[in-house]
Amino acid sequence: MKFTNTYAQLGDAFFKRVLPLPVAQPKLLIWNDKLAESLGLGAALLSDSDLKAHIFSGNQLPEGAESIALAYSGHQFGQLNPQLGDGRAHLLGELMDSSNHRVDIQLKGSGPTPFSRQGDGRCALGPALREFIMSEAMYYLGVPTSRCLSVVATGETVYRERGRPGAVVTRVAASHIRVGTFQYFAIRKDTESLRALLAYTVERHFPEISSDGEDLELDFLDAVMEKQITLIVEWMRVGFIHGVMNTDNSAISGETIDFGPCAMMGAYDPGTVYSSIDTQGRYAFGNQPNIALWNITRLAECLLPLINSEQDAAIASLEPLLKTFTDRFQNSYFKMLGSKLGMTDFALSDQDFILELMEVMQAKKLDYTQTFSMLTQSLDDDVAAEKSQKNLGDWYIAWRGRLEQSADTIECSRLLMKEKNPLVIPRNHHVEAVLKACEDSGTAVAADDFLSVLRSPYFEIPTTVNYQDFPVDGDKGYHTFCGT
Ligand code: AMP
Ligand code: MG
Ligand code: MG
Repeated sequence: MKFTNTYAQLGDAFFKRVLPLPVAQPKLLIWNDKLAESLGLGAALLSDSDLKAHIFSGNQLPEGAESIALAYSGHQFGQLNPQLGDGRAHLLGELMDSSNHRVDIQLKGSGPTPFSRQGDGRCALGPALREFIMSEAMYYLGVPTSRCLSVVATGETVYRERGRPGAVVTRVAASHIRVGTFQYFAIRKDTESLRALLAYTVERHFPEISSDGEDLELDFLDAVMEKQITLIVEWMRVGFIHGVMNTDNSAISGETIDFGPCAMMGAYDPGTVYSSIDTQGRYAFGNQPNIALWNITRLAECLLPLINSEQDAAIASLEPLLKTFTDRFQNSYFKMLGSKLGMTDFALSDQDFILELMEVMQAKKLDYTQTFSMLTQSLDDDVAAEKSQKNLGDWYIAWRGRLEQSADTIECSRLLMKEKNPLVIPRNHHVEAVLKACEDSGTAVAADDFLSVLRSPYFEIPTTVNYQDFPVDGDKGYHTFCGT
């Protein structure tokens, strides 16, 4: 592994140097071959499970790694917490992947750091595997996301209400720079570090922006906004509910990070919330765009001291950009829904028609994923056509008429729909059943089986288990927890 440590070069204000705390009995539970391949990890490592377990538990630091815990702040459920930071994670450094993108290699659950406060610095096996499974599912669904290289069982017990097996998960991400990282320096009025962070972030994630241009802050905010819009639209395409869109969990790279309380929406309802602590529905499925804008507005506030003008003028320079969010999001969102409906010639005038479908789905509590996959099938399958018409009534007839009117062929619509509408998502009850099976057996066999299906979300592959059945209670009693 050829580590570089560009983030560590930013200086002491950005992190604390701290080594992982060795674990008792590291045992490799799950390994991501494809991801390892894209990272160009050496043959000596790939063929040695014990070595992998030692390195990716934190017991043995790989050559070139400079283990650091990153500093950040964050608004959690709207409340500012000035001092968060990696309380149980160690950034080992960066690798260049096969597309020549720099990625962070981070251990999580690898021991306490100066940011741990009362936390034990550890992670339980369930949440570690959950992050592995969910991020892998998202990746194959085509959604921007951090990924996991491995989960190593520690042989130690962590105490979370009761004793649980411990684990260390290795996360691979475009970076760990968050809205909360900017907040950390803005709160401390450390303008110099803020400027260094901006320059670093632009170079790493937005090299197309001119770093000495006079509109640097504006161009940066615009680029971050574009990535967030893409991200949220993609979440909504597949029915993903992040569950804890705090500013410290909002990555500037535009990737999905922090899979603690995330879940998939079953029956379509924009108010869907599964997180046990999200009592107000702040992070409900349909509120995700509003929160993305809220978070970007917090980022904009951090940039004000960098803008070379009086406070009022600085605000006036960013405000018009923030006001573009809603229209940009709506355009992108409806275009995405149009593509899910095979509208190769989608026009803004289709919006009301699309909204009618959403209303029917919500009123009849129809499954989001299945409604769209059934519509896809209905184009060349009479049974699916009958079912869709039964569920959607006149709307279905109107939709077929709408596609007929298009200059493109039905085959074009079908291909577009197959690309945008997954057949398989990580349904909540299956995720939970798989995690329980892994915990009970002390192996990741159930996770591997599940993943073989999740890695092919758009093409049906033969399986022994039906992973697409609905939960018996429609997920009514389902609750997620901030991963611990
Ligand atoms: P999260 O809820 O995962 O976004 O984490 C919020 C903050 O709590 C971050 O600063 C984490 O590093 C910290 N944290 C979460 N769990 C632990 C733990 N077991 N030990 C130490 N810090 C933790
Ligand atoms: Mg977090
Ligand atoms: Mg978390």
